[in-house]
Amino acid sequence: MKNVNSKEVSVLISGPFNEPFDYVLEDKNTNLSIGQIVLVPFGKRKIVGIIIGDGTKTIPETKLKKILQVYDFEPIPKPSIELMNFLSSWYCVFKGLVLKMILSPIEAITSPDYEKVYKSNFLNQNEINEIKITNKRKLVLDFLLNLDIGKSQNDIIKQTGVSKAILKDMTQKNLVQEKKVYKTLNLDSHFLKNTKENKKNYDFLNLEQKFAVDRINDAIIKTKSDCFLLDGVPGSGKTETYFETVRTCLDQGKQALILLPEIVLTPDWEKRFFKKFSFAPLVWNSEITKKKKKKIWLSALNGSAGVIVGARSALMIPFSNLGLIIVDEEHEQAFKQEENVRYNARDMAIYRSTRSSSPIVLASATPSLETFYNAKNGKYIHLTLPKRATGATLPHIKLIDLIAHPPNKGKWLSPLLVGELESKLKNKEQSLLFLNRRGYAPLSICNSCGDKIKCVNCDAWLVEHRSKNILICHHCGYSRVFENVCKKCGVEGQIKACGPGVERIEEEIKEIFPKARLIVLSSDTMNNHKILNDTVERIKNNKVDIIIGTQMIAKGHDFPNLKLVGIVDSDVGLSGGDLRASERTFQVLQQVSGRSGRHSKKEDEKGVVLIQTFDTKNPIINAISKNNRNEFFDKELVSRQHANMPPYGRLASIILSSRLERKLETFSSDLLKVAPFFKNVKIFGPAPAPIYFLRGRFRRRFLIKSDKNVNIQDVILNWTRKINTPNYIKLTIDIDPFSFM
Ligand SMILES: [Zn+2]
Ligand SMILES: [Zn+2]
Repeated sequence: MKNVNSKEVSVLISGPFNEPFDYVLEDKNTNLSIGQIVLVPFGKRKIVGIIIGDGTKTIPETKLKKILQVYDFEPIPKPSIELMNFLSSWYCVFKGLVLKMILSPIEAITSPDYEKVYKSNFLNQNEINEIKITNKRKLVLDFLLNLDIGKSQNDIIKQTGVSKAILKDMTQKNLVQEKKVYKTLNLDSHFLKNTKENKKNYDFLNLEQKFAVDRINDAIIKTKSDCFLLDGVPGSGKTETYFETVRTCLDQGKQALILLPEIVLTPDWEKRFFKKFSFAPLVWNSEITKKKKKKIWLSALNGSAGVIVGARSALMIPFSNLGLIIVDEEHEQAFKQEENVRYNARDMAIYRSTRSSSPIVLASATPSLETFYNAKNGKYIHLTLPKRATGATLPHIKLIDLIAHPPNKGKWLSPLLVGELESKLKNKEQSLLFLNRRGYAPLSICNSCGDKIKCVNCDAWLVEHRSKNILICHHCGYSRVFENVCKKCGVEGQIKACGPGVERIEEEIKEIFPKARLIVLSSDTMNNHKILNDTVERIKNNKVDIIIGTQMIAKGHDFPNLKLVGIVDSDVGLSGGDLRASERTFQVLQQVSGRSGRHSKKEDEKGVVLIQTFDTKNPIINAISKNNRNEFFDKELVSRQHANMPPYGRLASIILSSRLERKLETFSSDLLKVAPFFKNVKIFGPAPAPIYFLRGRFRRRFLIKSDKNVNIQDVILNWTRKINTPNYIKLTIDIDPFSFM
């Protein structure tokens, strides 16, 4: 990394700042470089920041504040700094807030654990051979030869069998030097040795998989920042395919990052990884301890970590030598962060890969429309896996018209679906019922006065969770005990559940098939990885007959004996009215359908998917029933083009929120008064947000739509800076919004 020339430097500090501040280093002997992490005084506080260049020399040196501490780590690498700058300008957020994400966990920097290591003072074998020492001492020198980082006392004793006294003696005689370094993980296994077994041994893959591996490997070796779409039907072996490219990356001595939505990052996935590589990947998610995070972060920075797999925040880890990024389930909304810094980790990962001249692979069975579009027009390299890797045939999909074959009164399953469930039970095959609604019923109404029970903090219904006897708001988490008394009219025993949730389907199944072994898979019942993992094992081992699940079940799992998928309500989500409602519904339904019959090779054992719908003519439902994804995408692209919506146009929103409703109204109309006029920019609003009252705040929204070539960020920044935002108003800019709540 580039050195800075003077002792006066510009430091960007973490926090809500865009511009750096000048500081001076008193210790003239320390060399500073760009990216170096330092501690500086700011007002009365001490804040961590990084050096981003020479000082501006606008303030005399004597008046500058002094750097308090220069941390002893490798500097933050250039690609991470470039990512910070780009992310900040793309999403209109402070650079210092992005830096804060990069420097997280901050404990890694401010309180690292140190250990003593020993390094050899000899550069090569010849030098060692020339001196006269005992065999034991020679063993130590051989062990330490060519190690950048050195080895701890324990490692050396374990490996060579020498005593502490010998090591001490060697230090005194200057054969080795003792150094204090921060503790990272012991990751010798993390890079593959170029052994025979490691060479291109992927005969178990099919032709399409091999072709994909070869293309991606080529980009890794030639350090080309190509973007690949790995587009495979569910069960086509996408994971096996990208594992081979991770192997190549490690072979090249480079680091690989695998981004997964947290929900897919299961112990099951980790097991598959271990089976492949014989070492565990470093996992970065919300469940790991700070201590572990600290070590992973430092190991990524010093280059000893080979593979890190993590949720979206793993993109911010300062890898020193990144050679490959995989974004699995790239269409997932989970890659978009909706609080604090609003950014899409998938999109930023693509930028990050260009900075390290390394390829990126976006994997999905149901790519996002934007990605599909970019692959179609050649911006991304489209690699398709059209066949199930197991050789299984695709499932047979049928629609159930709920108007012609309605469920019994007060029930939710059509007799056709019940009949199919019965036949699967007889054959000892598994069935899955999918309904993307947690709890017992999405809405509770008082039969006496008609009041619909609402959250106290939001414009949302409280959802009854009968198993826990509570009502919960799925938006803010507010909950209260369910008492069958209306809070409005006071009448007792008249509160009625409306519509089905997974618990209600469970109740229905228990009535029809009292002996069937049931399991409900939702974020309420599976609230940690261990429970989820045990349940998945039970399903795989045929200890379950019928699974009832929410979106949680849609991905990642492979259940060999699952032969029927029943979609209880395919119409959920289609009426949402936001830009991606149909796309999302399509993706979820297609993924759930893909769970069926993943190992059925014979035509008569084919998996079955039954979709209950009131709207058999709906184009989405039709495209799914014909298994024709591309037809659906093409139609959806045409309608987006007509509306000049992404990927054809650009979209952003400004969300204004406040606890004070009147003041919010006044400020919104003041902001509208200074709105810019451009031919190719349209501004809608301020309209009440679809959920107007959320977590105790009132919310209004502007939607900004522009042609693709417009710098929508500039338009918005110039506009919102025209008037001061008072402190009782929160103004949030959301570029490329996903959520339209
Ligand atoms: Zn009432
Ligand atoms: Zn709420």
